[in-house]
Amino acid sequence: MAVLYRSAPAGALVEVRFAVASGMRRRFHRVAELEGVVDTVAGLACGTDVFVGVVPRRRCGGRRGDLVEHASVVWVDCDSEESVAAHAAFRPRPAVLVGSGSGRNRHAYWILRDAVGLDVIEELNRRLAMALGADVRCGDAARILRPAGSANWKSGRPAAVCLIALDEERSVDVAEFDGRLPALPAEPAARRHCSPRVAGEDRLLAISPRVYVERLAGAAVGRDGKVRCPFHEDRMPSLHVYEDPQRGWFCFGCSRGGSVYDFATLLLGRDTRGEEFLELRRELTAILLPPLPA
Ligand SMILES: [Zn+2]
Repeated sequence: MAVLYRSAPAGALVEVRFAVASGMRRRFHRVAELEGVVDTVAGLACGTDVFVGVVPRRRCGGRRGDLVEHASVVWVDCDSEESVAAHAAFRPRPAVLVGSGSGRNRHAYWILRDAVGLDVIEELNRRLAMALGADVRCGDAARILRPAGSANWKSGRPAAVCLIALDEERSVDVAEFDGRLPALPAEPAARRHCSPRVAGEDRLLAISPRVYVERLAGAAVGRDGKVRCPFHEDRMPSLHVYEDPQRGWFCFGCSRGGSVYDFATLLLGRDTRGEEFLELRRELTAILLPPLPA
């Protein structure tokens, strides 16, 4: 519990949800008082199914709008032999691994070094589930999962939900984790300018993201490819530039990303269509591209 909720704001709440004859009930405990969560889980486990919200809540409720805005946990529910095997071969290893009490099924949790927006968490969860052949639906930010120390009553008799592995110190950089996962089948709309066909014709799309981000934002990108995001308050650099212009840039704090055009339109407050786009393109060409030799 302490590992899962390490980065939670002091006032955040942990939701404990449990089954009673008439449906589901909820209890909330402050993250500052995790002993309360443990006691509640242990007390209920001997009689019913118990779940906890993976992402802390900022108020009593289990909908997405009730959650804290940033979190640092990524998870996957491996509910088949194939996904359990795929997970065992996946690196980096998770910080927390739980046996869900149903066959060899596993819940795995990775802890990110820095907290990121919930959109980013959900995208990473989805790609992780796809990579491992696990349940893609379990990646929504409001998800509840069975905590270690509870019991799975699905079969009518209790099966222990147990902690299989725990490494309290293990955390992973979000960009590194991102790099281990396949892309989603549909690229975000913001990357529509990046199609290879267009890139061949458009010299702006061949410029290194490091170069245009530095030039347009007037800030140096670190050797690790990170820079403070110009689109919000960003204490730790969350915006990553990729080597490959096709991958462009992505901010793990605000989930914005895309091509040189996406960066410029956000920065300069322009439209991506019609006359305004052509104008932007002329400006960017003047700023970023030296004149072609005659
Ligand atoms: Zn950002």
